[in-house]
Amino acid sequence: MSNLTDLSPVIPRPEHVDRRLAQLMRRGSANVGQSAQMDRLMMMLTRSCDLRCAYCFVGLSEDGYGEAHDGHADPTVFAQATPGMPRGDMSSETLRRAIDLLMRSERPELGLQMFGGEPTRRWEQVVELIEYAWNHPDRRARPIELLFTTNGVNLTAERIERLKPYSVLWQFSLDGDERGSRFRRGHLLPHDTAVDRMQNSIRVLNESGVRWFMNSTLPPAAGGEVMTRYRWAREAGVPAMQMNYATGMTWSDAQSDAYLIGLQEMLLDHAKRPDGFDLFNWRNNADPAPLCADVICDVDGTLYQCGAIFHERRFPELKKVYRRGHLDDTPAFGGLRLTLDELWAATEAGLAYDADELRVFEEGMRLGAAVDLVVQVTKRRLGIQGGGPGM
Ligand code: SF4
Repeated sequence: MSNLTDLSPVIPRPEHVDRRLAQLMRRGSANVGQSAQMDRLMMMLTRSCDLRCAYCFVGLSEDGYGEAHDGHADPTVFAQATPGMPRGDMSSETLRRAIDLLMRSERPELGLQMFGGEPTRRWEQVVELIEYAWNHPDRRARPIELLFTTNGVNLTAERIERLKPYSVLWQFSLDGDERGSRFRRGHLLPHDTAVDRMQNSIRVLNESGVRWFMNSTLPPAAGGEVMTRYRWAREAGVPAMQMNYATGMTWSDAQSDAYLIGLQEMLLDHAKRPDGFDLFNWRNNADPAPLCADVICDVDGTLYQCGAIFHERRFPELKKVYRRGHLDDTPAFGGLRLTLDELWAATEAGLAYDADELRVFEEGMRLGAAVDLVVQVTKRRLGIQGGGPGM
């Protein structure tokens, strides 16, 4: 490995970022195409959430919480010029139909992500979903990766224990200490209580021995806080982390430069002393973040490219062009996901009404390409191959 003290952070030049973005688009999604091993489905179990994070553009509502949607395409969603969202939670029948669809995939590996809203607010359905998928006759012994996205405020040792037999990977959205959590506001509970519960969940997860990682998101106003978050995670006993930038927001040059410099400092520090801490950013071969190629099933059984939900309140027009069908009329999982080129064409069509909106979206993709460049260049400079130091 190179002498780490010789290395200083580098900001990729705009022409290099453009070239990298073009390469990523040409390569296509790492998750779609003939060579992809896995089909994944994200499940929008509820639109209820304990928090209201400033960087979250998912359409959340407590109206209809606890009421099962009938699972037919909700006509109110596209009734207005600006698409809305269905009311209620995903029913047991809808979640089973969604799993049936995933199981019709021909891929040798399957992935299922519990998402929302906050999935722990539909705990009984989560357990039902996982047990149904795990024991499904069409699974045919294929490996199934279960990813549980959570804000951590409702985690208990009993709940974690309940899912232990299924090797769930817990993706804990966590932004650090009191100050870091200033963009994550308590909604159904006081903010201080939410922060206390999130901190307590670190201990509960560690004591349980399950696989988990901290998923941290920095909005532009906190672009320079990569190292603060990273140091906090290591001191708090977090075993693994993925650092992300918020999409759908305007990043100034100074903010994105600060993020990219922080990212490199974090990688270099980690290369010096991995000490068993797993930094997922080394394995950054994801799609340019706003163009996520995964498919999500909404509470009413409608299937979308997941960006339709991630950016629901920010770019509601994308829901029309990202809609892929409904469980009622989708016989096979194959062919459901768009390629990156198709996704970008749909995005351009969806946001054609406003060049500024399209520019914000595109800038998010460019930042994703810059992040990718930084990771690849840092690995090259350090002579690191594979998943990162210590992997
Ligand atoms: S915890 Fe997740 S779903 Fe809830 S507001 Fe925050 S980012 Fe959105």
